[in-house]
Amino acid sequence: MRLLLASSNPHKITEVRAIMRPHGIEVIGLDALRDQPPEAVEDGNTFAKNARIKAVHYAKATGRLCLADDSGLEVDVLGGEPGVRSARYASASGTRADRDAANNAKLFAQLKGVPTGRRAARFVCAMCLAERNGTVIAETRGTFEGVIADAPRGSNGFGYDPLMYLPDAGCTSAQLTPEQKNARSHRGEAARKMAKQIDRLPSVGQLSIPQNSKSQARPDPS
Ligand code: IMP
Repeated sequence: MRLLLASSNPHKITEVRAIMRPHGIEVIGLDALRDQPPEAVEDGNTFAKNARIKAVHYAKATGRLCLADDSGLEVDVLGGEPGVRSARYASASGTRADRDAANNAKLFAQLKGVPTGRRAARFVCAMCLAERNGTVIAETRGTFEGVIADAPRGSNGFGYDPLMYLPDAGCTSAQLTPEQKNARSHRGEAARKMAKQIDRLPSVGQLSIPQNSKSQARPDPS
């Protein structure tokens, strides 16, 4: 089975592709489409709503079975912020790396003087799978608990990974190997639950993408 992941974030695509591969599910990102669909308007106030908006929008726009991942970081002492605004927390422009650096700097500033015991946080991932006509067929959620570190560490992963300290592992999520991160991450949990649900769908054969679907895929780069 082949799914379109409603994302052009190369890190997310790599992670979801690796998590889904052992379940016999091939994942392509929006970047693999020859004709780029118009962007979805992610104006939901929860991860689940935004995942649903993206899955339905891109399924309808491309005529493909579409999986969406909406994710972010919730910090308890900040009332759950940055939450659904995680990607644009610092309102910065520039490359993805520039925006991640600005978001991380803002988070540090917000937590200045807050002791370790009050820096609990979690990554959350909501996934939604929509049929080619936009009908929602499955929704899942995963979480990944940690503590916001006092300095960034590690260079794996993306986004807030260098700040997410995992007390039991004694390192940040950016110091885990990709396999270690996928085994315990919010995205890993949500994707494995999704793979199970896909397995249980009665008409799984009918969900595969027809040759004449609205948008043609470029050859998969992997
Ligand atoms: P989305 O593309 O709107 O779902 O935004 C996701 C944002 O949440 C990313 O840009 C990151 O800032 C953050 N985020 C989500 N998942 C992760 C992760 O696995 N590691 C680090 N940051 C993440």
